[in-house]
Amino acid sequence: MPNVTDDAMRVREIELRRVRLPLVRPFRTALGTDHERDALIVRIATDDGEGWAECVAPREPAYSPEWVGGAQAAIREFLGPLLLERPVDSGTVAARLARVKGHPMAKAALETAVLDAELRATATSLAHRLGAVRTSVECGVAVGIADSVAELLDEIDGYVTAGYRRVKLKIRPGWDVEPVAAFRKRFGDVPLQVDANGAYTLADATALGALDEFGLLLIEQPLAEDDLAAHAGLARLIETPICLDESITSARVARRAIEAGACSVICIKPGRVGGYLEAVRVHDVCREHDVAAWCGGMLETGLGRAANLALAALPGFTLPGDLSASARYFTRDLTAPFVLVDGHLPVPSAPGIGIAPEPDALRDLTTSIEVLVKP
Ligand code: MG
Repeated sequence: MPNVTDDAMRVREIELRRVRLPLVRPFRTALGTDHERDALIVRIATDDGEGWAECVAPREPAYSPEWVGGAQAAIREFLGPLLLERPVDSGTVAARLARVKGHPMAKAALETAVLDAELRATATSLAHRLGAVRTSVECGVAVGIADSVAELLDEIDGYVTAGYRRVKLKIRPGWDVEPVAAFRKRFGDVPLQVDANGAYTLADATALGALDEFGLLLIEQPLAEDDLAAHAGLARLIETPICLDESITSARVARRAIEAGACSVICIKPGRVGGYLEAVRVHDVCREHDVAAWCGGMLETGLGRAANLALAALPGFTLPGDLSASARYFTRDLTAPFVLVDGHLPVPSAPGIGIAPEPDALRDLTTSIEVLVKP
């Protein structure tokens, strides 16, 4: 990765803006069904210009303890004041914020905003800064649990027709072999993987082993996120490669998980590990161990999607990511829409994250604005 050569910049103001984007399809979590993406958008004003970022914390704490309201409060009360305290550069944001425990998604948003401001000021793209080697990336699509298998297949049919290169199905006990078998029957050998979000236990090894015959790319986070040993045990019992998502909270944990035999694939999400710079370090650990990696998704608007595309262009991202076109999620995105071309999305090459919100969309979708300044 190129060295940070910029001087520290003074952050004069942090704008915390909530936006609501209606979802094309409802998104189910353990806590309910979302019909819109309620996102926190961070804009910082510095002496060298502005920087933008999206905080990926979801509306409710069903994926991890973080949620959008909590992330905003953490920035307002603790993280924001630390950032405003004295000049900072992107390479030192994480260390500055480390005095606050947890809140990786909130921290990631602040670090990304600083990175964006820094890179815009020096006319450098995030892709270049992170070490990208591709100008477009292969895209997959993630599909939630449906009311029926027929409904699920109809939804997937639209994505396969649109050109997505692989499909990911959410599974849980009672909704696993049946939808996977139906997928294979209808779509043949279209690359397929499944995500359990920790819904199984090691006692379900036989049920999970029943997925072996379908040639899945991987099974993502089958067991509890804090149990690497159980994942290592499961890896010895089933053939489908195990991928970890929620469990991987840092490069250090990634190394430990790989060395413990708990996974042979890692889903990298910058928000989950505290930012893009740590995400690159997770990527580096994967490469060092010959472990496949791919870029996860958190229902990002175009702002978060742009930055994820830069990350997914690194050489160790060897599997298609959960990187979908804007139209998969929103009828109206916050930015110019990302459009799938031959199963790929272009990696932004303009300075910083390479995109900014469209002023009209930003105005129409905003529900609140809060501004933090140095007291
Ligand atoms: Mg997952």
